[in-house]
Amino acid sequence: MVAIVGRPNVGKSTLMNALVGQKISITSRKAQTTRHRITGIHTFDDAQFIFVDTPGFQTQHSGALNRSLNRAVTSTLTSVDAVLFVIEAGRFGPDDQKVLDLIPPSAPTLLVANKLDRVNDKKTLYPFFQKMSALREFKEIVPLSAKHVDDVKRLLDTVKPYL
Ligand code: GDP
Ligand code: MG
Repeated sequence: MVAIVGRPNVGKSTLMNALVGQKISITSRKAQTTRHRITGIHTFDDAQFIFVDTPGFQTQHSGALNRSLNRAVTSTLTSVDAVLFVIEAGRFGPDDQKVLDLIPPSAPTLLVANKLDRVNDKKTLYPFFQKMSALREFKEIVPLSAKHVDDVKRLLDTVKPYL
């Protein structure tokens, strides 16, 4: 079981759509699972992906409901084989940090740096990834474009050893 997490707009839905290969499965379970922040589940032959969406991560409103939703996310993440923490390649801000803080340290976490196509000078990513590695032990760092299917296949191959 693999969870996909990240702040809004980093490309989680696009990634999930690419993984699933068809858009229908993403939204079909939304209504019944919104309170647990799980908005998509897709089972491959040998892997199940759970898409944990992030409205609950937006902690501007720090009420009891939000805390309880965040606890639900964290407890979901303790039981998965791997967490894909999605960011935009070259960008890491306070909203990304908030999501990262909710990932239990014990959860094997892979950093997915999406929107690689937007980075003109790919060299700049080396120091960026070094900084990211200082924040958390990422099992793997996978730069990709969710829009490009080849990258997505590589991501699946990278995740498999953790299942
Ligand atoms: P989510 O909020 O994390 O689920 O993000 P979405 O999947 O809805 O994507 C947010 C925006 O980023 C959309 O306009 C996507 O088309 C765009 N996007 C997603 N992946 C990529 C990518 O690999 N490259 C580029 N350039 N844009 C992307
Ligand atoms: Mg989305």
